[in-house]
Amino acid sequence: MRPYILAENNWNYLKDARYELAVLPWGATEAHNYHLPYAADIFESDHIAAESARIAWEQGAKVIVMPTVPFGVNTGQADIFLDMNIRPSTQLAILRDIVEVLDRQGIYKLMILNSHGGNDFRPIIRELGLEFPKMFLCLSNWYNSVDKKKFFENPGDHADEMETSLMLYLKPELVLPKEKWGSGKEKKNRIKGFNEGWAWAERKWSMISEDTGVGNPELATVEKGEKYFKAVTRKMGDLMFEICKTSIADLYTETA
Ligand SMILES: [Zn+2]
Repeated sequence: MRPYILAENNWNYLKDARYELAVLPWGATEAHNYHLPYAADIFESDHIAAESARIAWEQGAKVIVMPTVPFGVNTGQADIFLDMNIRPSTQLAILRDIVEVLDRQGIYKLMILNSHGGNDFRPIIRELGLEFPKMFLCLSNWYNSVDKKKFFENPGDHADEMETSLMLYLKPELVLPKEKWGSGKEKKNRIKGFNEGWAWAERKWSMISEDTGVGNPELATVEKGEKYFKAVTRKMGDLMFEICKTSIADLYTETA
């Protein structure tokens, strides 16, 4: 039993345990090109949360990782078979209930460890922050934690070289052989502002990608996946440690 993983814990241990930070990993269940499993985001969340928490725990941080929420916002993929969708308003309802438990039981710090681009927790955190003023609510999208360009040659944001490498490292038995990998070619919006990033509209996934991937996975390797995983979890572990050890009443400084 790892004391920082709630799913492995028991009442015998927990009745006397105290934690400073709860981590809620949040994934999605969706197609990932032809070759990665629907639960790719869930496996990634599980492993990144657990290893980051181990790193923080071993430095003395009292962190507890909750089970990963398996469904994300997939409104742009309504026509892709068995891509599951929960509404942002449902995410707000789920999070409100979880925050209420933590607030009542005196764990005043919560970090959402997000694995899926369609999940946008910032407005939800703003809303719940007003409702639960004692709580410190925060968010990290692990895929933004280190510079992908230092690890991977081809860009992308879904089932790409990064994600394929990571899954080759974490769950190789669930990655189809290379001849099945699609090219992850993405069609761009005809309207310039959307491609430049200063205007936004949701991508209609089945119209932008044939194989559901965005980003060419062909140069993915297990070695790249391992290096990236270690870099992400080291950084995320340090973040968890810092959140645990910093007083929220004294969060800001002139000198950082
Ligand atoms: Zn993914």
